[in-house]
Amino acid sequence: MRIGFGYDSHRFDETRPLMLGGVEIPDSPGLKGHSDADVLIHAVIDALLGAAAIGDIGSHFPDTDPRWKGADSAELLAIVVAEVRAAGYRVGNIDATVICERPRLRPYVDAIRTRLASLLGVDIGAVSVKGKTNERMDDVGAGVGIEVHCAALLEKA
Ligand code: MG
Repeated sequence: MRIGFGYDSHRFDETRPLMLGGVEIPDSPGLKGHSDADVLIHAVIDALLGAAAIGDIGSHFPDTDPRWKGADSAELLAIVVAEVRAAGYRVGNIDATVICERPRLRPYVDAIRTRLASLLGVDIGAVSVKGKTNERMDDVGAGVGIEVHCAALLEKA
């Protein structure tokens, strides 16, 4: 078994839709970024790559590469899952914490877990997504953006 940890953060961008875990969240500003800025998927990707010790999201999908401009992060995650499998592992489980003052995630958590489980090729019971605020502390607490922390376990296939 191998453990990995991923972190990501993005600032809000009022002009874009909000994508979280491959699900579009209505009635919320989106996030600034080169791709679709799905901060949750980016943290999951770094946790998986970290667990397999095969680099990070920046080395796999450089933000200087026009190929990834506006990229669907769900497609990036599918590529990473294939690379993890090629390295001889399968996903055991993931546990992510999404930190933001808004939007409230609870109504969307099960849709996000379902989507991530399908992308990861695991049961929904192997995907945990927890939302919390930063109690109005620091920039995330002031509503500047969203940050995500994620742990992932890989098992030898
Ligand atoms: Mg990112």
